[in-house]
Amino acid sequence: MREYKNKEGRILHRIICNGCGKIITVQSGMPMEGVFQVRQVWEYMSGKDGEIDNFDLCEECYDRMTAQFQIPLTRTEMVEMV
Ligand SMILES: [Zn+2]
Repeated sequence: MREYKNKEGRILHRIICNGCGKIITVQSGMPMEGVFQVRQVWEYMSGKDGEIDNFDLCEECYDRMTAQFQIPLTRTEMVEMV
């Protein structure tokens, strides 16, 4: 989950991992660790039509979650745009 410094929600204060409660510090709007941010919009064919789920996971919780996959995730190198 994300906590903001102001009510308008424009200045990010800190991120709390929904999986383990770890606090991820934010400096100048940038998380100081890897964060898996999810914003899932559930659409008509789902059982949660019209609902939006938001959560954040720290890198350790992300690794734990993806390690449970029956089929491993695909990881590739990002090509830097210079
Ligand atoms: Zn975590």
